[in-house]
Amino acid sequence: MKTEEIKAVKALLSEVKKIVIIPHRNPDGDAIGSTLALMHYLNQYNHEVRVIAPNDYPDFLKWMPGESSVLKFETEREVSEKLIAEADIMFTLDFNALHRTGKDMAEVLAASQSLKIMIDHHQAPDDYATYMYSDAKMSSTGEMVYNFIEMLDDTDKITVDIATCIYVGIMTDTGSFRFRSTTSRTHQVISNLIEKGADNTEIHNQVYDTNSYDRLQLLGRALQNLKVIPEYNTAYITLSQTELDEFNYKKGDTEAVVNYALSIHKTILAAIFIENTQEGIIKISLRSKGDLSVNEMSRAHFNGGGHTNAAGGRSALSLEATVEKFIAILPEYKSQLV
Ligand code: 5GP
Ligand code: MN
Repeated sequence: MKTEEIKAVKALLSEVKKIVIIPHRNPDGDAIGSTLALMHYLNQYNHEVRVIAPNDYPDFLKWMPGESSVLKFETEREVSEKLIAEADIMFTLDFNALHRTGKDMAEVLAASQSLKIMIDHHQAPDDYATYMYSDAKMSSTGEMVYNFIEMLDDTDKITVDIATCIYVGIMTDTGSFRFRSTTSRTHQVISNLIEKGADNTEIHNQVYDTNSYDRLQLLGRALQNLKVIPEYNTAYITLSQTELDEFNYKKGDTEAVVNYALSIHKTILAAIFIENTQEGIIKISLRSKGDLSVNEMSRAHFNGGGHTNAAGGRSALSLEATVEKFIAILPEYKSQLV
């Protein structure tokens, strides 16, 4: 953000405001972590702040400080719409286009007269916000919320709760500090967060060591379904709705399963295809190593987007037909895969 913009935002926040903070649909650790961190920060200035998530999120995020105050637009529509309509300021975090909140919510957000501020690290942001802090090089929106607070000269206002929420955002979006987006600055921020009181061991436990037996059994099935296409250094996993039902699938149970496909020696491209009969779609997660952009692949073929090495999308075809389509497009990327 430019100095004048920071000044303007600071001036804006110098008076008590009604503020809503919005993460993307199917919010992940970074979406919930960054929005809650910003909420805790703004609360210190006595603003009226509410995080409104488009829909529900996994249980492994439901321990975070302030989490119980999060509204879900999908199931708490009336109160959510009222807060969005009456807001002076709307922060949109961890997404780059209003449609990432879902069709219904996107319409309500677009109709709101509030001043919009975007904080996000996805490529190709839409132009709806008055103030944009958008940087695709950032590891996570969590790291950007830290930077935002720092730009406002307020790092001394970072409490244990804020530190904990930002830590979750950075940890989950960097695959526990291993993805290419992780920089020395990321580690410096993490170091500062631990100094502010974030309990790193406890945070890792809460997010990664709270599996159910069913979830691990579902992972077992996913690994059995894993297929490798050695000539394209590609691996993929499928999970049908029947399989999800067999293991009492809950939101979040398939999070990060795609990384097992990517972990096979020499694999450059990995995918997981998950059937969702209720929505009538196949949800797709794509991962890559190196310069192969799954963001571009997802935009071109699967109605989605994301980052260079991690993107998502969807298909209205059957599970089998979606996999066939995926295999059929691989020759297009041959020069980057082989
Ligand atoms: P995941 O595969 O873990 O759901 O998502 C990986 C990355 O791609 C995340 O940054 C996520 O925000 C983004 N992403 C996931 N699904 C979609 C989608 O349908 N559309 C777009 N534009 N981005 C997505
Ligand atoms: Mn993110």
